Amino acid sequence: MQFNDDADLDTSQVQDYRGSGGGGGGGFGFPLGGLALGGGGIGIVGLVLWLVISHFAGGGGSPNQLSGQPNNSTINQCKTGAQANTSQDCRDVALVNSIQAYWQDQFSRSGKTYRKATTIFFTNRQQTGCGTGTTGMGPFYCPADQHVYIDLSFFKELQTKFGATGGPFVEGYVLAHEYGHHVQNLLGTSKNIGKGSGATSGSVRLELQADCYAGVWANHATSTPASNGKPLITNVSQQDIANALDTASRIGDDFIQKNLGSGQVNSGSFTHGTSAQRQHWFTTGYQSGNPASCDTFNTNDLG
Ligand SMILES: [Zn+2]
Repeated sequence: MQFNDDADLDTSQVQDYRGSGGGGGGGFGFPLGGLALGGGGIGIVGLVLWLVISHFAGGGGSPNQLSGQPNNSTINQCKTGAQANTSQDCRDVALVNSIQAYWQDQFSRSGKTYRKATTIFFTNRQQTGCGTGTTGMGPFYCPADQHVYIDLSFFKELQTKFGATGGPFVEGYVLAHEYGHHVQNLLGTSKNIGKGSGATSGSVRLELQADCYAGVWANHATSTPASNGKPLITNVSQQDIANALDTASRIGDDFIQKNLGSGQVNSGSFTHGTSAQRQHWFTTGYQSGNPASCDTFNTNDLG
């Protein structure tokens, strides 16, 4: 993946709370047995990329109660695509810009208004409109305050714990998945999906749709301009797509249960779909470039 050196970055879409939340006790707590996210049945490590929505939505979480103060002095130095080519902070700012520019355009073409969601960088733990977020939960979207929360150390974790190949484009896949949940929230898709888990549950369908939306963005990544009208991303390689699919294969419920959980695969507790399904829906979105191809709710064939 290559960013256009001359493209402008919009740092207002990211707030940097690293080091400002509750300290201590952070780090990756696998196994996360003690984390009390209602609903039960969530596999320990299945919390990775777990969508907080079904637990917290409507749960009285109050927005804008983040702990600590943002310190944006570092990310505010991210001005150009050239910096996105060399710095992870700037790359993730640029990716958030690209993902939201795509959805803004897509919404306006269908007569809808896209509301931008801020991404919050944090470390260890952070108070959110959905309760306390921790590093061990993996990145998540909170519908109550409409923020994406991420500890960037997750990307290292994908490689060291999950054995993923990694690479810069994987960050785009993960962020685009979380923004997929924001899109679902704006469109009202995430209402009434129910709390249950299981291979064909609403939760799995919602997660696979978010993967599909990530693929749709990937399709449009090189044709989506930055705020100054220049293309933000100039190249997405076959290797980039392969890296995203590799990651998808390592965060499927079956892979996680088999390799990072009990060793037994129990489809009754699936929340995100299998590795094959996650790859299938990312690919569906990537090949079609059309969000309408992501209707995981009205199909008997989840891949
Ligand atoms: Zn998700």
